[in-house]
Amino acid sequence: MSDRELLVSGNWKMNQTHFEAIQFVQALAALLRARPLRTGRALSLHPPFTALRSVQTALESDAVPVALGAQNCHEADKGAFTGEVSAEMLAKLNVGFVIVGHSERRQLFGESDEQVRAKVDAVLRHKMTPILCVGETLDERQAGEARARVSAQLEAAVKGRSRAGVAELVIAYEPIWAIGTGETASADDAEEMAAHIRAELESLAGKDAAGAVRIQYGGSVNPDNAGELLRKPNVDGLLVGGASLKPDSLFEIAQAR
Ligand code: PEP
Repeated sequence: MSDRELLVSGNWKMNQTHFEAIQFVQALAALLRARPLRTGRALSLHPPFTALRSVQTALESDAVPVALGAQNCHEADKGAFTGEVSAEMLAKLNVGFVIVGHSERRQLFGESDEQVRAKVDAVLRHKMTPILCVGETLDERQAGEARARVSAQLEAAVKGRSRAGVAELVIAYEPIWAIGTGETASADDAEEMAAHIRAELESLAGKDAAGAVRIQYGGSVNPDNAGELLRKPNVDGLLVGGASLKPDSLFEIAQAR
């Protein structure tokens, strides 16, 4: 385990109406009152856009120690982009973290590396923290190309940024073959790629910036495997999909050790 603050983030994807979201926050708040998060831990919730305002109000009115997150944003601040939501709009809702370049966005919605970079710019411009997702497909892993793929995604989004800009990032290593499949990378594999990511960041932005970046693992995390992953020195948190949809399961993951 590192001395960086560990960040556990629940990505609800296209799940939970705003009514369900409020009930979720109330249940999670009760769990946190009974057993507050361990020192050095932080938790963020990433509801769909339609539930952001309700979750914000529920968190703020009860001072629940959970950060508000979003799952995506558009790279422009405003304009003729029907159906899109800008980083500026999210910032006004007190969103703190924005997931950028999730593999579902890249694969299902055709987001390119260039677009992902522009989204990181937009999130930073509005003083929020991007959670930049990188990860390889099963074919790439089997072909021995996992590191090269992750390096290329990182370089596309990070190269040329100031050291201070890089230090603010959260990187989520999410092997695509492990997302929503029940297949988890072993804790050793997750650590190996997290260490590789940190080394790449060091070559792009120097040791201090690389040492400040939090690197999450994501892919079929659950309360049973979370502790082993969080004990790895370069794994600074978890990005959780399916298992974040139940308050007790997300809570146990956030408390795991
Ligand atoms: C994700 O969508 O980021 C994810 C890791 O999903 P799951 O935990 O369901 O594999």
